Amino acid sequence: MATYDYDLGVLGGGSAGLTLTSGAAQLGAKTLLIEKEPRLGGDCLHYGCVPSKTLIKTARVYHLMKQADRFGLPPVETPPVDFARVRDRIKGVIATIQEHDSEARFCSLGAAVRFGSARFVDEHSVELDGKRISAKAWLIATGSSPAAPPVPGLSETPYITNKEIFYLDKLPESLIVLGAGPIAIEMAQAFARLGSKVSVVQRSGQILSKEDKDLADGVMAALMAEGVEFYLNAKVTGAREVGGRPHLAFTNADGKARELSAERMLVALGRRANLEGLGLEDIGVEFDAKGLKLDARLRTAHKHIYGAGDVTGGNQFTHAAGYEGGVVLANAVLHLPRKTDYTWLPWCTYADPELASIGLNEKAAEAAGLKYTVWSEQFAGNDRALAEGEAEGRIKLILDQDEKILGAQILGLHAGELINEWVAVAGGKVKLSTMAGAMHPYPTLGEISKRVAGDVLAPKLFSDLVKKGLKLFFSTRGRACTPPTGGTAQ
Ligand SMILES: Cc1cc2nc3c(=O)[nH]c(=O)nc-3n(C[C@H](O)[C@H](O)[C@H](O)COP(=O)(O)OP(=O)(O)OC[C@H]3O[C@@H](n4cnc5c(N)ncnc54)[C@H](O)[C@@H]3O)c2cc1C
Repeated sequence: MATYDYDLGVLGGGSAGLTLTSGAAQLGAKTLLIEKEPRLGGDCLHYGCVPSKTLIKTARVYHLMKQADRFGLPPVETPPVDFARVRDRIKGVIATIQEHDSEARFCSLGAAVRFGSARFVDEHSVELDGKRISAKAWLIATGSSPAAPPVPGLSETPYITNKEIFYLDKLPESLIVLGAGPIAIEMAQAFARLGSKVSVVQRSGQILSKEDKDLADGVMAALMAEGVEFYLNAKVTGAREVGGRPHLAFTNADGKARELSAERMLVALGRRANLEGLGLEDIGVEFDAKGLKLDARLRTAHKHIYGAGDVTGGNQFTHAAGYEGGVVLANAVLHLPRKTDYTWLPWCTYADPELASIGLNEKAAEAAGLKYTVWSEQFAGNDRALAEGEAEGRIKLILDQDEKILGAQILGLHAGELINEWVAVAGGKVKLSTMAGAMHPYPTLGEISKRVAGDVLAPKLFSDLVKKGLKLFFSTRGRACTPPTGGTAQ
């Protein structure tokens, strides 16, 4: 039997790689983690989720300070933002979390960590610093990088991506955002709130194009109210540098040529998998521009080489990467044939209001040719949202013809937290009647979920049939009051 240096080798110390390394080491597999950068944590910690959510919080506080009057408080003086201080706060939060993702912690779990760029030299071995290292199974979890779109002149134009935006020395007085996906929208709002003049240029006629248009429009309306300009249906024709500033040329929805200029330009137009330089071509591991070619157990053509995280080209979220790390753990270490199942994968865009989803939205249900019904409740009818002074948005529950949950979307304050209840309900096959009958603390935003479940049941509970039955058996006597002009109060 062949012998290897390690039971498991992991390339990439981000969300997927760290999940697998930690699990495998704790299960007693001799595990080696190889990370290209001199620190662990990956994009999420250094250039993604953590800095973006930290920045969003700072921008929200500043925004609320300017809104003091709306809460019955004296107006607050808001001097301009010193972005260097904001950046330092971001770095501080990252440093705190970094301790959790340290080499020492992984060593304590039993895993070895090496830094450097490894390259496959055969199906079981990589070369690192001129030395060959073999493992029985490998995980490729090298993440993704911002894609550079084929815009004429872009490569000669100064622009920034998620790698630079959190580490700027000063707040840009103006910012062009190219793209309108979650990263673009979160950054557009945060920088507008901090004081930048922000323009978003988007190819399609909707922002957050994966989402239902009505909810995405709700996010766009909120950003527009805060001064963000949108150019939708824009066809970008070129980029250039003028006096050190980026200029972006495009034809507008009306077909007219336009050119925007700003101090900074953020390009957030998709991601490409980090697969170059790994020697994959030489060992017959297939991939394309999107990512690795994998089966449902996340195996490449070589059944002992797996892929997880952004390199799958699928759901590029930290929680998806973690989940996939778990699937690989089951297959490669526990030898259980576990397949991925993304039916109840939640996701959230952390704009204000947040837009969180799980399962199918209307767009996806229509694309799948499914018949569905939509049940909705507004935050304007939720006492806590009114008390918070943030009653924008609503919940949409999508049911199939048998009233089984297809999906749920929430647009509103803390939607990313509220969707968690639907993760449990949908994933755990909890009945809507259980959800509607479950006590929720008052006053909470989460009552909106109980209420929408109750809406589905109400027509049956308060039906004429039930009323007739009660009259027959218990002699109930019907209405005690009739509105003078007809109709019933809601
Ligand atoms: C601005 C922004 C905000 C985001 N916000 C969210 C959010 O709020 N919620 C959410 O769920 N997701 C968010 N994401 C997405 C999330 O960051 C990614 O989905 C997640 O980091 C993917 O994990 P991963 O393990 O695949 O890759 P990563 O975490 O990027 O890890 C890959 C690691 O591999 C290393 N590597 C690369 N090449 C090699 C090599 N040749 N050898 C060894 N190591 C290598 C990299 O240095 C990196 O450390 C955000 C992304 C961005 C850009």
